[in-house]
Amino acid sequence: MQEFESRRAFEHLDKLAYEIGPRLAGTRGDRMASDYIRKQFEGCGLKTRVREFKFVPRAAWVKTTAFLFTSAFIALLFLPPELSLVVWLAVIVIWRSLDKIMPKRRSQNIIASAGTKKSKRCVAITAHYDSALCIVSYKLYLFVRFAFLPALIIVAAIVAARVLGVLQGWIIVWSVLAIVFLPISIGMFILASSRRVSPGADDNASGVAVMLEVARAAAESPPADTELFFIASGAEEQGLVGARKLVASKALPRDTLLLNLDGVGVGPHSYVIEGNGIFRRRRTSSQLNQVLSNSIKGAGLESRLWWAALARHDHVPFLQAKMRATTYTTDVGGKDRLGRFIARAFGLPNARARGYRYIHTLEDTPERIELANIERAGQVVLGFIKQI
Ligand SMILES: [Zn+2]
Repeated sequence: MQEFESRRAFEHLDKLAYEIGPRLAGTRGDRMASDYIRKQFEGCGLKTRVREFKFVPRAAWVKTTAFLFTSAFIALLFLPPELSLVVWLAVIVIWRSLDKIMPKRRSQNIIASAGTKKSKRCVAITAHYDSALCIVSYKLYLFVRFAFLPALIIVAAIVAARVLGVLQGWIIVWSVLAIVFLPISIGMFILASSRRVSPGADDNASGVAVMLEVARAAAESPPADTELFFIASGAEEQGLVGARKLVASKALPRDTLLLNLDGVGVGPHSYVIEGNGIFRRRRTSSQLNQVLSNSIKGAGLESRLWWAALARHDHVPFLQAKMRATTYTTDVGGKDRLGRFIARAFGLPNARARGYRYIHTLEDTPERIELANIERAGQVVLGFIKQI
């Protein structure tokens, strides 16, 4: 394999996050980034395929959700008990099928491969190239995220209690519920009304840039008996859509070992994502984590574990399909009171929240990216490919 040249990687990063800029899935920037990545893969002589898929934009989905439940909630005030319960349950059923009935946009996964098919090993390096809508308020986001489902269930339970006749004074009960429920739906409208899109330099032009340069370095002479895949996934910020489509399309053999890169441009600390979630937990592959950790140490860095309690990564759909996958990321560290609270409250010792505070903001720009980080990430990924 050839040397990893961090300057080349930085050019990709600049192209994606500065020249193209915001890359919200389904928009012009997204399409331009996808074209750019395809051309880079083809320029390295890799076999390249573009797989288009459709998805419901997250913001529209959140707004529709808020609209549905707010209207139903207001209707509950006027409806008789039995009908209230029917309406509430019907709205939940409609909500669950929003992904099927709402208008869709298009995005792409770009898949490149090197090496011979039917090799002993299949290794995939992935990174999402879309960027996110700017977050209006992280606190509001956490409130909505953790209060929404319990609120749906509590309303259903109270409406059911009313049908059974164990509840009196409906107007008062409804008013108390409204104090909790209406702020949640207003919060959803506010969050989904963000118009600005992050340039996504760290999240995740950095991961794509490193992947593209690793692809160039490895394209001509991949390790013996290994089929290498390089995948730029689309619409990650819309709910890991590109990764889900990859799994569903069976584009990768089931025994593929998958390393995802997400946010590798900022901060001195290197992390192996140990798992995701708080209530529904999903652990990454311990076998791959061991190799990744060794390769981080091989690059002269300290390897740390990170339980991403509040974030999801593109490896999750692969884990759900019983494939082996993990994610590499870097961060600035810092105080992290939220992370320590989650660690203690839920027994997740490696839980932490990201310290780089420009994620999903207009400030996530190339100027904040450290060339040394790009260099280290390149060494880590090449080391991973060699050691596996
Ligand atoms: Zn990301």
